[in-house]
Amino acid sequence: MKYYSTRTAPDDPGEGRSAAEVIVSGIAEDGGLYMPDSIPRVGPDFISSLLPLDYRGRSDKILSLYLDGFEPDEIHRCGLDAYSAPSFPASPAPTVKLEDGLHILELWHGPTCAFKDMALQIMPKLLSLSIPKSGEKRDALILVATSGDTGKAALEGFRDVPGVRISVFYPADGVSRVQKAQMITQKGGNVSVCGIRGNFDDAQSGVKRIFGDAETVRRIARKGYFLSSANSINWGRLLPQITYYFSSYCDLVNSGEITAGEMINFCVPTGNFGDIFAGYMATLMGLPVRRLICASNSNNVLTDFFATGVYDRNRRFYTTASPSMDILISSNLERLLSVTAGYAKTAEYMASLKETGRYSVDEEVMNEIRDVFDAGYASDGESFETIRRCFSDYSYLIDTHTAVALSCIGKYRERTGDKTTSVVLSTASPFKFAGAVYTSVTGKDAPAGYAALEALEEASSVPIPEPLRDIDKREIRFPDEIDPADMADHILREI
Ligand SMILES: *Cc1c(COP(=O)(O)O)cnc(C)c1O
Repeated sequence: MKYYSTRTAPDDPGEGRSAAEVIVSGIAEDGGLYMPDSIPRVGPDFISSLLPLDYRGRSDKILSLYLDGFEPDEIHRCGLDAYSAPSFPASPAPTVKLEDGLHILELWHGPTCAFKDMALQIMPKLLSLSIPKSGEKRDALILVATSGDTGKAALEGFRDVPGVRISVFYPADGVSRVQKAQMITQKGGNVSVCGIRGNFDDAQSGVKRIFGDAETVRRIARKGYFLSSANSINWGRLLPQITYYFSSYCDLVNSGEITAGEMINFCVPTGNFGDIFAGYMATLMGLPVRRLICASNSNNVLTDFFATGVYDRNRRFYTTASPSMDILISSNLERLLSVTAGYAKTAEYMASLKETGRYSVDEEVMNEIRDVFDAGYASDGESFETIRRCFSDYSYLIDTHTAVALSCIGKYRERTGDKTTSVVLSTASPFKFAGAVYTSVTGKDAPAGYAALEALEEASSVPIPEPLRDIDKREIRFPDEIDPADMADHILREI
């Protein structure tokens, strides 16, 4: 299997990049995202063969379909290291039942208690194997600017992985106290973390400047490193996300909630469109999916896109209680366009997005997209009410992102009358957003900082997850805070 950019038709269909090359390079030279040259179709037999396996076994089978050039044993090792204790002490992605026909796929049992762990626990291991396979002799230096969750998940994923170092920059006053505590106490011999005096954009621009500054890149190369990133457009992050759609389906068959071959829906809290696009890949591969419901918060650029065929980022940006979905450019939507509209149109749309902030997709293409996708959004008020109701009806705590999706599946069912068994993807532990969850459940103001987690534990009788427990009492390893202008020097000192 070869990979091609979403934006350029291959001159020679024999060319294309290997899986190892696309995992090392992340983004294509023309600015597009990498996609496989064909999508492997699997039948009922394949799904039957997954039923008796655990998550790691299912992961092995799905990754093997896409990772030409990797030995079965290498893929198996990566999955075993990624999805076992201590990272995932129990089942990595259990599906739990709220009521008949309505289930939650919990994707937050990893070391940072959010769904990014599902990909970021295994992607660094795939990258470490990919570097020599791609012919690269140097080690990778991963630079990350983070507004909170991605930085911590990347640190956990890359810590002590051979052939890789990671440097994370966060806005000193732009992350929550719990998020900051998680990062500055990070363990591992190949990690560094540093606060930036400024906001997230300052941190992100600083990282981009380093990538673009030939002199800094040369000085880093002289120390034996090439620069790389771990962001969500890397195929190595998308691929592992396909697994949990298959795995959840298998768990529902095994528990007798559905029969093999029955269609189900997935409702996905969406930001950059990576998570839900993995669900679309699973659907194209042959998983029996009736609808993928794209759930947004008040930054509902995607809801409008699915309704009108026009993607328009020229709109007000809202800061919401589900910050990981506060996004106006959903990068991975480009992959959906490439599958449905082809290379040439995708390049046109992306050029238009860059120039005018909007593009308009042909009706024919939209009809194909709407065969599978539906979309909706929920305000903060609706999400808080959903958290409250979910706890009072089912004694089940959800976070603010999951609440957006649970609200949206309710509205979707009311609007369409569709009674298909539905799975809502749960992307973060409620304790990651303890203040908002506590207030939604109790109606009272939450205490600040770590005390909010203790208050939520007390009010709900649900224990604080182990990775977050006593986070305020751990040893601080990375107290540094610097000006954005000093980022390059900081990196050169650390490596
Ligand atoms: C990143 C994230 C999302 C959005 O996922 P995308 O793949 O960007 O659509 C939703 N919820 C949480 C908690 C996240 O961290």
